Amino acid sequence: VWKHIQQILREYINIRSYNTWFAPIEAIDMDDQHLVLGVPNRFFCEWIDNHYAKVLNNAIVQVLGEHRKIKYQIKNDSLPESPYHPTDLQPAAPQLNKISFSNTVNNSPFYTRINERYTFDNFVVGDGNNFAYAAARAVADSPGRTNYNPLIVYGGTGLGKTHLIQAIGNYALSKYPMTKVYYTSSETFTSHFINAIQQNKISEFSAYYRSCDILLLDDIHFFRNKGKTQEEFFHTFNDLHQNGKQIVLTSDRPINELMDLEERLISRFKWGLIVDVQPPDFETRLAILRKKCDESDLDIPGDVLEYLAANLVENVRELEGALTKIMAQVTFTAAEPTLELARQIVNEIAPPDKKMLTIETIVEYTAKVFNLSSDHLRAKTRKKDVVRARQVAMYLAKQMTNHSLITIGLHFGGRDHSTVIHGINTIEELLRRDANLRNQIESMKKHLTYQK
Ligand code: ADP
Ligand code: MG
Repeated sequence: VWKHIQQILREYINIRSYNTWFAPIEAIDMDDQHLVLGVPNRFFCEWIDNHYAKVLNNAIVQVLGEHRKIKYQIKNDSLPESPYHPTDLQPAAPQLNKISFSNTVNNSPFYTRINERYTFDNFVVGDGNNFAYAAARAVADSPGRTNYNPLIVYGGTGLGKTHLIQAIGNYALSKYPMTKVYYTSSETFTSHFINAIQQNKISEFSAYYRSCDILLLDDIHFFRNKGKTQEEFFHTFNDLHQNGKQIVLTSDRPINELMDLEERLISRFKWGLIVDVQPPDFETRLAILRKKCDESDLDIPGDVLEYLAANLVENVRELEGALTKIMAQVTFTAAEPTLELARQIVNEIAPPDKKMLTIETIVEYTAKVFNLSSDHLRAKTRKKDVVRARQVAMYLAKQMTNHSLITIGLHFGGRDHSTVIHGINTIEELLRRDANLRNQIESMKKHLTYQK
């Protein structure tokens, strides 16, 4: 029965989400009221209830013809026995607070403070980072007691790696205040190590890093070409791992591409779970901007936010940079947060020659080629020549950008994705028999490629 339900689910959700959330689940028991599912950790229950309750219920009804209540059973029993006993993780006692805890750790010369600003609550989850987010939540929930050890987060710069791993630390600290959480960049680790060698304090250095419960080590690509440091880290790693302590690492490239990292280090990394963070899509970028505006009480019109989300596509840091600039302008020069201001700021952050091709550019250019205005393409009109131009622009947007059909639809006056599919199909069909159109589109593509 569960196999059958899984099959239906696979049709309804994208394959990545399916593999993340439903592939690892087994059905454990079923009676005429309940379906008991075995999940890898508590976070699954929460996530599925919040995101997939409807789809799952529908699939159950489709297969069984009637409803079943879902119960979860956490499959942690299958994990190897960890020497890191649950009793080590005392739940939050009210009289203990983070401050007193941080102070004790702070006495150490090595400690880098974990930034309380980085939490799960203010991390926006989208398609590009939901797996990484889920894994981070699971690890924060039961440090050292999931199969995700080490957990490695990799991805381009400004995509939230540092935010995520510090969020693990903050969450774990709020749940288990006695946990020793060390956050450090690999660069700091390296310079501590070099200092330790120079001052003959290697044993203190090792003792320090071996004394934590959770080690959050940022940017391990920095270890490339640093043989001695790698060696030291290798021993620290083994020691922590053997004692069931949680290790979380980040890297700006996939682990197997960290060629200069020692082979044995890399093979250790494969014991755990490696997850990536991808650049956010349009909807996620917009959600991030909205969240940051809320947080800093910034009141920016919707179309300005959409403009920023449509044009700053590389990473989250750019989005934050844009908001900071707008905030400065608004506060210090009493400027209004207008589209014009947004255009200026986008040009400063992502100058046109480096900018990715946007749907907006495609719309404007296509309108020009067809002697129309870009508003025509966004308007409701069904006039034949406008419809054709609109379809060409949709086709180009699909071919030349990474935006989803939904996003493309939004740029054409909020048309839904089936309209976009229809438009694209129509053009593809025409291209097969209409040589003129083929030439025209080819030359438009060339032009747009250089326009970026
Ligand atoms: P990385 O370490 O991958 O280079 P950071 O974690 O430093 O990236 O992220 C850059 C900035 O963007 C940080 O201020 C971070 O808070 C913010 N950020 C990144 N991803 C998200 C997200 N999904 N939601 C909210 N803020 C984010
Ligand atoms: Mg970082």
